[in-house]
Amino acid sequence: MRLSRHLRLVFVVAVLVPCAVLAVLSVRSLGREEAFLEKRLAQSLDAELTYAVALVRENLGRIEELLSASAPADPGSDPRAAFAAWKKAAPLVGVPFLLDSDFRILWPTRTAYLDAADLSFLNWNREFISDAAAIPFYQNAALLYRDQVTGGGGDQGTAEKLMAANPGEVKGESKKDAAQRAEAPVMMQMKVGAAAPAATAEKDAGDKLAAKSKIEDVRAEQQALSEFEQSDAARKRVYDEAARMGQKAETRNVRPAGGAPAPSPASAAPRTESIYISEPRRFSEITAGREAGLIPRFIEEKLGWLFWKRLPSGRIVGCRLDDGSAKAALLARLPDVYSPARILTFLDENGRPLVTPAGQEGRDWRRPVAAREVSEILPRWEAAAYATDPGALASRARATRYLTILIILAMFVVILSGGTVVLATVRSEMALARQKTTFVTNVSHELKTPLTSIRMFSEMLKDGRQPDPDKQKKYLGLMASETERLTRLINNVLDFSRMEKGRRAYARKRFDLGALVEALVESERTRLEPAGFSVVFHDGAESSVVEADEEAVKQAVLNLLSNAEKYSAGVKSIEVEVGREGGTVCVDVKDRGIGVPPAEREKIFREFYRVDTTLTAPVRGSGLGLTIARRILRDLGGDVSFAAREGGGSVFRISLPEAGRP
Ligand code: ADP
Repeated sequence: MRLSRHLRLVFVVAVLVPCAVLAVLSVRSLGREEAFLEKRLAQSLDAELTYAVALVRENLGRIEELLSASAPADPGSDPRAAFAAWKKAAPLVGVPFLLDSDFRILWPTRTAYLDAADLSFLNWNREFISDAAAIPFYQNAALLYRDQVTGGGGDQGTAEKLMAANPGEVKGESKKDAAQRAEAPVMMQMKVGAAAPAATAEKDAGDKLAAKSKIEDVRAEQQALSEFEQSDAARKRVYDEAARMGQKAETRNVRPAGGAPAPSPASAAPRTESIYISEPRRFSEITAGREAGLIPRFIEEKLGWLFWKRLPSGRIVGCRLDDGSAKAALLARLPDVYSPARILTFLDENGRPLVTPAGQEGRDWRRPVAAREVSEILPRWEAAAYATDPGALASRARATRYLTILIILAMFVVILSGGTVVLATVRSEMALARQKTTFVTNVSHELKTPLTSIRMFSEMLKDGRQPDPDKQKKYLGLMASETERLTRLINNVLDFSRMEKGRRAYARKRFDLGALVEALVESERTRLEPAGFSVVFHDGAESSVVEADEEAVKQAVLNLLSNAEKYSAGVKSIEVEVGREGGTVCVDVKDRGIGVPPAEREKIFREFYRVDTTLTAPVRGSGLGLTIARRILRDLGGDVSFAAREGGGSVFRISLPEAGRP
């Protein structure tokens, strides 16, 4: 018992606990794998978005170039004809305008030929283009505060550094203007050509210096942008600085769900603040030091664009872009919006998709897997990517998780049941080993007891110490019965080992079982009655002929009789009854002995099994008597069974099939 508890403990510690730990680890790593895959998806979508954004920026550049190239070089005092030609050449031109060098509106004038579009344009833009009012102007915060991004923020300010890096530039412009120029790749600025030195050698040197500083500039810009993407701290520094400068931070229209493009876990939370910050600027400030450009302009929450170009005469020609044509030109040559894996689209300033694939109208466009802001010319626009079937990934992950858990459960069931079987086997093997040990002790003792009495009586007779012939006869009788007991015991042991090897051969013949049992009972009676037993035999069968091995059956009956004798305590009574029951001949051996507890009733037929295994047990035995009896009877087509006897004691029944007619 103690050993099996120990075994159970070993099983739990060596098998179950490691399995449980492995199971937990595997489920956890599965979860991590899922997160990793999601992040990977977001990253690959982000790469696609970067490409799409680059295409849109290219389109922006192309729009500006086209407008600039087709703009009338000298519209004269009545630009109507020139503007009509411009509109014809470039469908992007919505409402053209003309200003003198002091931002006085020359066209459209109040008086002449104003149509509804001109009127509406003037209503919304008169103040701005005549430099009387400021509008929100958008800038890339990461580039504007490059030093704060890269963790600098030393004594020299951003603008000063930029000035130092661009010695050829016009002096006297504001710090912000200089900083604004840092956005060159997007803004498609045109250089003011007036500052070129006269001497060629000097010019060459200047060009080289400018080219070098330009490369450094681009590198610094890229560094600032990626640092801004990756570091929460850098972003905080920038927004704090912007707030201090009175600039307004915008909130993005989307909340990307997937992992941030940055690989560092610190910045895994997607950004919700826009990289573009705005501050009020007047037209003169925006155009200062530059030759042409596009200006984003929100009118009643709707984004439109103004194009302007400085003419050699100092006047400014420009136009409000035609919304439809502008959007078409911006979204030209983009990657396919739909693929089986993802949907890639651009969202406008109000978070609505500019291109929607069929069947995707009901989607929550504010929750893309990945998103990117596009340009300061397109504030609040987003390039956004979505999983085509957002449920697919999640349900696949769920299915894999369930499957893993199921496999783990199955593994536990197998381990537990296997372990139980192994434990049970080990336990029964241990019990058998114990029984074999007690068997050896018991058999030795069984051999010793009759031998001792035989020796005692034979010595007594040999020395002539018992002159009484009656007593002498009694002693000889006792010696004979003890010898028989010895023989039976040895036979049992030998038979058992023979049976174990499957080598017992039976000599079958017809005989009367009732007669055999009667003869056995009568011969035992002579021994039992003097020992205080009442022995009753009753044959209730008319015929009890069986076909079996007589010697073997005799051995089985004697084993039962011997048990009835051994296990009778107070009431020494043995009844043997022969009868017939449905084609079988039965022999019941009944006693009024100690009986067998219910839990032991089948076990007593097992080899070496004894109810009382203590060495101080009042009755000794080998634990083989019933095993052999049952084996013999079963081999001969019958059986031995136990039944508790009413009023106390046991009934062992031998049954054998009746023999057919000869
Ligand atoms: P042994 O008698 O040598 O121990 P057996 O195989 O004959 O071996 O019996 C197995 C066990 O069955 C005994 O140890 C005893 O506990 C129980 N048993 C057998 N016969 C009787 C009986 N007539 N009355 C009570 N218990 C019995």
